[in-house]
Amino acid sequence: MVPSRSATAGSTSMYIGRFAPSPTGELHFGSLLAALASYLDAKSNAGIWLLRIDDLDPPREIPGASSKIISTLETFGLLWDREIVYQSQRYSHYQEALARLSALALTYPCNCSRKAIKARSGHSHYDGHCLIHKVPHCSTKYCWRFNTQRHSISWTDGIQGLQSLHYPQLADFILKRSDHLWAYQLAVAVDDQQMGITDIVRGNDLLEESAKQLALIAALNLQPINFNHIPLALNPQGQKLSKQNLAPALSTQKITSTLFRALCLLGQTPDKALLQADKSELLKQATLDWNVNRIPLKYPDNSFS
Ligand code: GLU
Ligand code: ZN
Repeated sequence: MVPSRSATAGSTSMYIGRFAPSPTGELHFGSLLAALASYLDAKSNAGIWLLRIDDLDPPREIPGASSKIISTLETFGLLWDREIVYQSQRYSHYQEALARLSALALTYPCNCSRKAIKARSGHSHYDGHCLIHKVPHCSTKYCWRFNTQRHSISWTDGIQGLQSLHYPQLADFILKRSDHLWAYQLAVAVDDQQMGITDIVRGNDLLEESAKQLALIAALNLQPINFNHIPLALNPQGQKLSKQNLAPALSTQKITSTLFRALCLLGQTPDKALLQADKSELLKQATLDWNVNRIPLKYPDNSFS
């Protein structure tokens, strides 16, 4: 059974949702499912829907991807309600949050390589080595980690139900990388807060990231957020549809039928007559009919072959 959504955070404030793509490639059908679900959830709750470009990692960025993502969203009629936020313009806010966490003694430098971590623990989860064996002062290459104090995090996802993450899966994660780039987990916690986000609807690949975001929300005393993770779109080989797996970019032909197919996969039951409608009419009706509790825990087999 699909659990009903939790109505804790944000229940008294206006719903503010968001879509936050990384410009590492063009949008694919899996991204459309996440964008559409978060858009409809916001609109059906009389909320607003924001767009943030998560351009935190220049080496992984594909030139032109941001503008392609923006124009594809426009083509599908998924229009955002405020100015687009770019993470690349927000570094000073991440620095401030890092300073606050450091003032709370919740950060520490670490110069362990992935290889060293694996050699020590047999897995890739960080073991807290540099919390005890301090990084030498002369060291120039180190990252900053968040001290989770090996606490566990439990929360209720509006779609996936009760979740919890413990050490070592929830290990002392990186806040600022040794190449001085900001880690996604810190940036997302800071940005979602400053954008006033009350509800996040995104792909299930980020389910565990919620635990880290919640750990930072608690440490920085930020407003709570409702999380809703939609199932992941998998190709016939069982791999996530992703830019890395070269999922085809969304075609900007057949807009209405693509939106219609996405709605069906999200467990909604759009009237076939909408296939003849234009995209704004379809989105309007889909907003009226939206029911987050109908989102399945898994898409039917071979939905993305
Ligand atoms: N930028 C992240 C990504 O594209 C998603 C961020 C989020 O939805 O929290 O994977
Ligand atoms: Zn270390």
